[in-house]
Amino acid sequence: MNPKIWLSSPHMGDHELAYVQEAFATNWIAPLGPHVNGFEQDLQTFLGEGVEVAALSSGTAALHLALVILGVRAGDEVICQSMTFAASANPIVYQGAAPIFVDSESDTWNMCPQFLELAITDRIRLGKKPKAIIVVHLYGMPAQIEEIMYVSRKYDIPVIEDAAEALGSTYGGRQVGTFGDIAIFSFNGNKIITTSGGGALVSANIDYVAKARFLATQALDPAPHYQHSHIGYNYRMSNVCAGIGRGQMEVLPQRVLQRRHNFNYYLQAFQDVPEIRFGIEPSPHYYSNHWLTVMQVEGDRFTREALRLSLTADNIDCRPLWKPMHLQPVFEGAPYYGYDTCETLFNTGLCLPSGSNLTDEDLLRVVSIIRALYYPAELIHLTKSI
Ligand SMILES: *Cc1c(COP(=O)(O)O)cnc(C)c1O
Repeated sequence: MNPKIWLSSPHMGDHELAYVQEAFATNWIAPLGPHVNGFEQDLQTFLGEGVEVAALSSGTAALHLALVILGVRAGDEVICQSMTFAASANPIVYQGAAPIFVDSESDTWNMCPQFLELAITDRIRLGKKPKAIIVVHLYGMPAQIEEIMYVSRKYDIPVIEDAAEALGSTYGGRQVGTFGDIAIFSFNGNKIITTSGGGALVSANIDYVAKARFLATQALDPAPHYQHSHIGYNYRMSNVCAGIGRGQMEVLPQRVLQRRHNFNYYLQAFQDVPEIRFGIEPSPHYYSNHWLTVMQVEGDRFTREALRLSLTADNIDCRPLWKPMHLQPVFEGAPYYGYDTCETLFNTGLCLPSGSNLTDEDLLRVVSIIRALYYPAELIHLTKSI
């Protein structure tokens, strides 16, 4: 059996362990501590645009707090991109609110601004104005964020950017996560950088970030005894995990280039296969971290499943795209505004191994398996210089 090639595995730099050892040496083994402050500062500097950052226990926790801070309550409606991971939508239900799903456009595979506006006007017509919009920068590709922000301002509905997969991606030279009213990032083990588990809430509104820190530490009112006037959560990041994050921030620019290298490698390796298409940046405005390289398998020679099974048989980790939320059993009956763009992407899309720690030999192995299907007579003498 060939060694396993992972979809996206953790990739440590040289200094993470030193930061963790420092946490041990100083006995800062707690949520909060100097590494948490340092990690927040590192992220703030990286993102720019005057944003503040609260480091949290996960991206899901950050999304939950974003909804609490924006005042989403039981019975409210929140618009969410359908094509995403369930963690984008679940916190809507934690609040007792109802998700309204919106289709993607075919350029970035993210929320379609036209269907967004249709959803908003229809919900208003039905008597309920949505309380928030959750837009996702899926697989690292920036959404059409300018158009989405325009619609959001037109109807005065706040935007939460789910940038869990998109740290280091930019739109018009500006980091994603700095456009919306609030944004979230994830540092789960499979993301472009990891703290083993963790997340962040980001906003240029310092009151929002202060509120996130307050709510994430059990909502302790200032008093010598335990006094509470709000329902709190235990959502802060641990100082040990933040130490990993500080080391990872040092290598983030490198990680972006490594992921983009994977993408370009695959793009070139399949440029002569007409049935294989990639999610490319639609214009120079878009700069994707290419967290995962995603391809669409078209035509009727081979299905996406045929490719997936061939790779799996060779011990190569790969998977279909996220299954749209409006097709998930748990969200059955939720309103959906759109056509079949995200459903088609789900049916034809395959995520290829994309870790920043993959070697060109690993990439060549992936490419060779797929090329052998389309060109069985081809002598596999692809070189590393592809
Ligand atoms: C990973 C992810 C999340 C959740 O982040 P966690 O840190 O795993 O809780 C949310 N949204 C998207 C799009 C993600 O990929």
